[in-house]
Amino acid sequence: MTKFAPEVFSSHSLISDGQLHIGGAIATDIAAEHGTPLFVIDQADFDARALAWKGALESAFGSDAGTVYYAAKSFICKEVARWVARNGLGIDVCSGGELAVAKAAGFDMSQVELHGNNKSLDEIKSAISLGVGTIVMDSFQEIERVGLLAEELGKVQKVYLRITPGVDAHTHEAISTAHEDVKFGFSLASGAAWEAINEVRKHASLNLAGIHSHIGSQIFDSEGFEIAATKLIGLLARFRDEFGAELPELDLGGGYGIAYLAGEKSLDAHSVLADLAKVVKAQCAAAKISVPRISIEPGRAIVGPTTTTLYTVGTTKDVTLEDGKVRRYVSVDGGMSDNIRPSLYDADYMAIIANRTSTSAEVNTRIVGKHCETGDIVIRQISLASDVGPGDILAVPATGAYGRSMASNYNHITRPAVVAVLDGKTRVIVRRESTEDLLSLEL
Ligand SMILES: *Cc1c(COP(=O)(O)O)cnc(C)c1O
Repeated sequence: MTKFAPEVFSSHSLISDGQLHIGGAIATDIAAEHGTPLFVIDQADFDARALAWKGALESAFGSDAGTVYYAAKSFICKEVARWVARNGLGIDVCSGGELAVAKAAGFDMSQVELHGNNKSLDEIKSAISLGVGTIVMDSFQEIERVGLLAEELGKVQKVYLRITPGVDAHTHEAISTAHEDVKFGFSLASGAAWEAINEVRKHASLNLAGIHSHIGSQIFDSEGFEIAATKLIGLLARFRDEFGAELPELDLGGGYGIAYLAGEKSLDAHSVLADLAKVVKAQCAAAKISVPRISIEPGRAIVGPTTTTLYTVGTTKDVTLEDGKVRRYVSVDGGMSDNIRPSLYDADYMAIIANRTSTSAEVNTRIVGKHCETGDIVIRQISLASDVGPGDILAVPATGAYGRSMASNYNHITRPAVVAVLDGKTRVIVRRESTEDLLSLEL
């Protein structure tokens, strides 16, 4: 039997009498009540992870600690924004839409950071008018736009510059963001970063408080964060040398890796930030600058492990491969429209049977979705009990980040609901989309 692996599931998940329990509720009951496919988010687990990152930043940097900005793009809705606020974290948004969710949740705008490599004038205007704490600038045109709009609105806007430190983050190319050939940021090596600093300083309506880098996602090798920090501190030192004043803030982004497969281990917040703090403090001492207020932007590391997707099996099929071996295809009622990561990034997931114990022998299985696309794969290769069939509930853990947030309506399939579970009670926090919702867009 595919084994339940506590390191991949949310903290309050367990198997009892062959049934998966999440947050004190039985997965089969949750599926029966709310339907599948379904995202089930363990609320207490979310709180614990949010607090763990906040606590880890504070213990690593003490009174110099900045803000933990929860990366909204990993998954945001009004209820989650309220959990983020309750735990005392900020939010990093990268579009007017994500900003609108934070606003609708009543989130303190001074704790919001706005990202994006092509923010529209409307997005910039609404961010400044709403009092968004920090705008992270990503191009020369944007420096001009934010500068002029802030001036028009009679405000002085706090800004960071996004810097490309030139670090290979050792992750999938599509989620690696800090080598030179990317759309994000101002290159340190080319001199663009320094030029951007000078441009920002020409605007009385911009308050350059610090610099930012985000080197990629699903990173396990802490060396990447440390190299980026070292390079950015070099830029802070140059700033001090040139202008005789220090930039007070440094935002080192997100990207902390989590476990998706049995046996893997999520990065530990305390140890990764303690290691980072050692490097930051040593580099600042060497450059004779004060340690800036360090902020971070974890998304996946907070929400990823909190959520399990429940699917219902619809059909199975055995296919004989060229080498004569057989592959069992197990089709579920969702797929690439609720989890694009396997086709986008070759991401791996695991799954267990949530509704019963099986003693059947395991067979070589591929779990696929219901979309008209060969690449619509949930799990490329897994050993699964041979008696898995129609009506079984499969649970895929660690789908909280970049699952629902990247969901699409491909094949006019409606996006799943998100149900929060706490102390055995479930609550819909994002309702399931209906076909009527989709048809209502058409005139
Ligand atoms: C995506 C992103 C994050 C969050 O990345 P995770 O891997 O989810 O931690 C943080 N900051 C920026 C700028 C990002 O683009």
